Amino acid sequence: MSSPVARLVTLPGFVNAHSHAFQRVLRGRAAGADFWEWRTGMLTEAERQTPESVRSLYERTYREMRAAGITAVGEFHYLGLETAWAAAEAAKAAGLAFVCLHVAYARGGTERMRQPSVTAYLQEVERLREDGVAVGLAPHSVRACPREWLVEIARFAEAEHLVLHVHAGEQPREIEECMAEHGVRPIELLAETGCLGERTTIVHATHANGAELDLLRDSGATICACPTTEADLGDGFLPAVRVRHRGIPLCIGSDSNVRIDPLEELRELEGIARRQDGRRGVFDTDALWEIGGPNGAASLGLDGPGTITVDLDHPSLHGVARVHLRAALLAGCGADVVAMA
Ligand SMILES: [Zn+2]
Repeated sequence: MSSPVARLVTLPGFVNAHSHAFQRVLRGRAAGADFWEWRTGMLTEAERQTPESVRSLYERTYREMRAAGITAVGEFHYLGLETAWAAAEAAKAAGLAFVCLHVAYARGGTERMRQPSVTAYLQEVERLREDGVAVGLAPHSVRACPREWLVEIARFAEAEHLVLHVHAGEQPREIEECMAEHGVRPIELLAETGCLGERTTIVHATHANGAELDLLRDSGATICACPTTEADLGDGFLPAVRVRHRGIPLCIGSDSNVRIDPLEELRELEGIARRQDGRRGVFDTDALWEIGGPNGAASLGLDGPGTITVDLDHPSLHGVARVHLRAALLAGCGADVVAMA
């Protein structure tokens, strides 16, 4: 007797524009009452990583991403050069397009994360490029990079047409420290140093104020929202409605990988907007699919999000008309509906 033929439909894939794959192991056991306490445990885990552990742990995590419909990942990588190659190999083995957002770290963190100079950092980027690894520039944050590093990195990104990703506005303390050091807020400092432009992605922007959001709108930069991680870490939530009103492009990231489910990230994003605005459909179905795929690809400098197939016979889709499929996936399904990515 032959088995019944699965009813599959092809849809655009998802792009994960912000991941720290090693943080997958922290789920469920990360202690700490706030982001800063969690970060202490995270740094301990980062210290443990070797090229061998990255090669196996990242492949496992990337396979989970692939199974969840993610076709490309931007790995925001601050574990050093040796492990960057291991991460690239892991992505290749898992069948995932990979962009190494190689991180510049001047101060703070741990020793393995830091480069002695911005020149040394840019040399690391060049080594990766020479080896055929797709790269983006990633000054970790205004916390980790002083003004002169930001200026130099922005100049290099512009000259080489590379994407630039940077954490900003995740925590109130980061903003206070930036104000104390520079007299301006983080996204204002990024604007002053030339870091904002159409190839720039600001990760989080959770606590960005109106003036900072205006700077993002005027520069054409993208915001990468990571709602499940931002919830898990008690960061707060994106000013989604104000971002939407300004027409700032959004993409999504799994960040700490506490969850690997792009449908859940998109549902959270719209859920945040609904709670803020007291109405439904702030981001319509088309907008959310753009955020989930093409916008993430553009953020990473990739051509597009590829395709996935979804199982129409999955119990979560029982009774859903084809015309409502994409909306139903966003509203009521987990990534286990993905049959093949
Ligand atoms: Zn991050």
